[in-house]
Amino acid sequence: MIAPDGFRNIPYNIPMTNRTVLITGGSRGIGASIAREFAAAGDRIAIHYVSSSQDAQAVADSLAGGGHITVSADLRDPNAIRVMVDGVAQEFGKIDVLINNAGVFFDHPIETSTYEDWQKAWTDTLGVNLIGAANVTWCALQHMPKHGTSRIVNIGSRGAFRGEPISPAYGASKAAIVAFGQSIAKALAPMHIGVTTLAPGFVDTEMAARLLDGPEGEGIRAQSPFNRVALPEELAKAVYFLASPDSEWASGAVLDFNGASYLRM
Ligand code: NDP
Repeated sequence: MIAPDGFRNIPYNIPMTNRTVLITGGSRGIGASIAREFAAAGDRIAIHYVSSSQDAQAVADSLAGGGHITVSADLRDPNAIRVMVDGVAQEFGKIDVLINNAGVFFDHPIETSTYEDWQKAWTDTLGVNLIGAANVTWCALQHMPKHGTSRIVNIGSRGAFRGEPISPAYGASKAAIVAFGQSIAKALAPMHIGVTTLAPGFVDTEMAARLLDGPEGEGIRAQSPFNRVALPEELAKAVYFLASPDSEWASGAVLDFNGASYLRM
């Protein structure tokens, strides 16, 4: 049987080693775990951070293999993003995989926030979680091979679908990153670049520590019938799959990753 046109060009069984990977927000939490997962498989990692240079360097030093680098940019600054991404490409020669992971979460309930606090929360949250990710993606695309193994994985959130009453800008930013991922999955498919989004529930990181370690912690863990939250290492394995050369057909997908804490059709 002759494979339909287009199918012949899909490079199956491409070795998964020696890819170059840019991970935004790799200095801690989920990003650091993702870095460890990819490096253990033989990839070279650019660990991006905004202010935690020592933490980022410690992550880089802890990775398997060699040639890893750290890079910095405030994702609210489009020019800094371009310099950062171009620097990664200059060092690595190309960017095979982009993981849009950096994110911020600020409390700004509409009932009690001042107008000034409200505006700052929206500007900063969308600036990092959405516009920052979109700008990193544009810049990275200029350096991505267009022959079938390049991948973009966005880290979304269950909050995109469930609502975020304490941080509505966060929920909006994560819903938007889902829509962004679906749009560019269509746009980049002709280049065989796969784009997916992981939508986790609570994960045991600094971002969630304040809630998990407080009086609400027990209730948060009980949201899942497994009675726990995710470990960053679990997310890293899922991201690794979504970024693999074999995952082209997952492009456009949103993978709910929340321990059955929030189910939707
Ligand atoms: P952390 O708070 O542990 O780490 C956030 C990362 O983002 C850090 O590397 C930080 O850099 C970077 N960052 C923060 N602000 C900026 C900025 N202005 N410009 C550039 N980088 C910035 O987060 P997590 O590991 O918990 O979260 C990672 C992703 O997963 C986020 O997108 C988050 O929304 C998502 N997520 C997390 C969940 C959770 O429960 N933890 C649940 C669902 C989704 P630096 O260290 O230099 O400050």
